[in-house]
Amino acid sequence: MLRWPWFLCGFLFLLTIAFGLAVFQSATASDPPECPQPHVRLAVVVVFDQFRGDYLERWEPLFAADGGFHRLKKDGAWFTDCHYPYATTVTGVGHATLSTGVPPSQHGIIDNEWYRYDNLSLVYCAASPERHRVPTPNNDSPKEKATGYGSPENLLALTIGEALKAAYEKDPVKPRVISLSLKDRSAVLLGGKNIDGAYWLDSATGTFVTSDFYRATVHPWVKEFNDEKLIDTWFGKDWLPLHPKVDSKYVFADSNGAGEGVKQGLSFPHPTTGGLDKPGPRYYDAVTCSPYGNELLLALAKKAIDAEKLGTRATPDLLMLSFSSNDLIGHSWGPDSPEVLDVTLRTDLIVKELLDYLDKTVGKDKYTLVMSADHGICPLPEVTAARKKADPFLPLPDAQRLDGAKFVLAAESFLREKFANADDKVVCIARRTSNSCYLNRNWIQAAGLKQEAVEQALANWAKKYPGILTAYTRTELLKNEPLPGDGIRQKVQLSFQADRSGDVVFVLQPYWLVSSAAYRTGTTHGTPHDYDTHVPLLVYGPGVTAGVRTEQVTPLATVPILAKALGIAPPDGVKAPVPPKLFGE
Ligand SMILES: [Zn+2]
Repeated sequence: MLRWPWFLCGFLFLLTIAFGLAVFQSATASDPPECPQPHVRLAVVVVFDQFRGDYLERWEPLFAADGGFHRLKKDGAWFTDCHYPYATTVTGVGHATLSTGVPPSQHGIIDNEWYRYDNLSLVYCAASPERHRVPTPNNDSPKEKATGYGSPENLLALTIGEALKAAYEKDPVKPRVISLSLKDRSAVLLGGKNIDGAYWLDSATGTFVTSDFYRATVHPWVKEFNDEKLIDTWFGKDWLPLHPKVDSKYVFADSNGAGEGVKQGLSFPHPTTGGLDKPGPRYYDAVTCSPYGNELLLALAKKAIDAEKLGTRATPDLLMLSFSSNDLIGHSWGPDSPEVLDVTLRTDLIVKELLDYLDKTVGKDKYTLVMSADHGICPLPEVTAARKKADPFLPLPDAQRLDGAKFVLAAESFLREKFANADDKVVCIARRTSNSCYLNRNWIQAAGLKQEAVEQALANWAKKYPGILTAYTRTELLKNEPLPGDGIRQKVQLSFQADRSGDVVFVLQPYWLVSSAAYRTGTTHGTPHDYDTHVPLLVYGPGVTAGVRTEQVTPLATVPILAKALGIAPPDGVKAPVPPKLFGE
């Protein structure tokens, strides 16, 4: 039997202790205390603007067998019952929620815009009057300078990108956080404040820009991308469907195109020139309202991955991507159209290409990808009516378009009649936003009225107005009393923020739309109804338990999931948990 000499054992013991101490010391010296967890090299958030949760099932047989969706669904976790828990389902709000992991009542982005009493104007969710465009436009007119530009200053909560930067504050190797979109509000609100770059498309010039909130000049790779003028390559290329003969069971759109937007024609092929003879602003708009817009953003994302060497260093990086073309197309032609089907099939290919690129540059099993959307979409009322006509037993309501301007006029005359002299020229409603009215508080005070009484009267009146399901007053929402059984009220409550929300909040009847100058045709979103709240949630990456998950979740879970993958604590105030056993523990 072989015997180890005692002194050799002792020497090995001492060596082990010394080595252990050295490892411990080097670990404590280089790893900040906030990041003790193992992590992936890169986390990627992929948002498709206006992508309804049912699309992944509805068009399942049409997706490519080797496409991105099949890969995410097979190798990742697919949450089929993911709904936003709040009422105002619009782009700014959705992106702020996906980046902060808290509802609008906490992150403060209650709508794409809201009213401010102190300067009597609407505030855009992702801009500040003090910020300017970078690069500075050639025609740098005083008007251009005065226009507010992209800024996350309205966000009241920390984003996951900011949390990642903070966690590695003392590390010599800093994480990189980049946020890209065609829309300014999507890039700005997904990214947040202390990040390396947020870029969006300026459709006047067809170039990606940022604001001087972030940087004094654009990154060299963004300048290079802009100089290459990739955006011009689709000029004159008609948008044709990927699969010209799709079974009619997959689309419901009325073949006459009733209710559809007409900007780029009712049916395929859709021209992309914007009516111009060379690339210019209307052409750039046409690109964004076609699948080519998503291809443009994918190309920029690849450039960012290469130039910033994302996912190749000791600290993890974060890339936020929001693809906007799905939304612009959905607004024009509606969720039951061949156009939305086509952009969704192409979205599958965008995801495939992105995954393949990440495999190549970062490495399989070295990144985590979360895919979701900022909101769903309401069907065109004309399509709902046509479907009902064809099958009277379908459980669909009689949906119509509510004329928003007419509604406010009627509300004004009601308030004047009830509280003022009907002939008075007094303005009772200071402003209407997507789903609420801001009362003229000066008038209420001067007339010696009680704010609560005026709110309640308007809410009661609105509840009887055709197309309005219900209404809530500021006074009752301020009380923040839980009302079990009133699911709509709970969703409205989570969209309410005392300093920014209106005085009376309206909720539309399901399948109704508010028609405005912008939406006499086409469709929109922004309600607490299922078709607006339901979005996909797919999580893919090392350690993720693959499979279909049918439990109820919200997109707020994105932030704790990303924090877990990045090995950091979620930002303060995040209460949403990582779904149980998602990471196999
Ligand atoms: Zn939209």
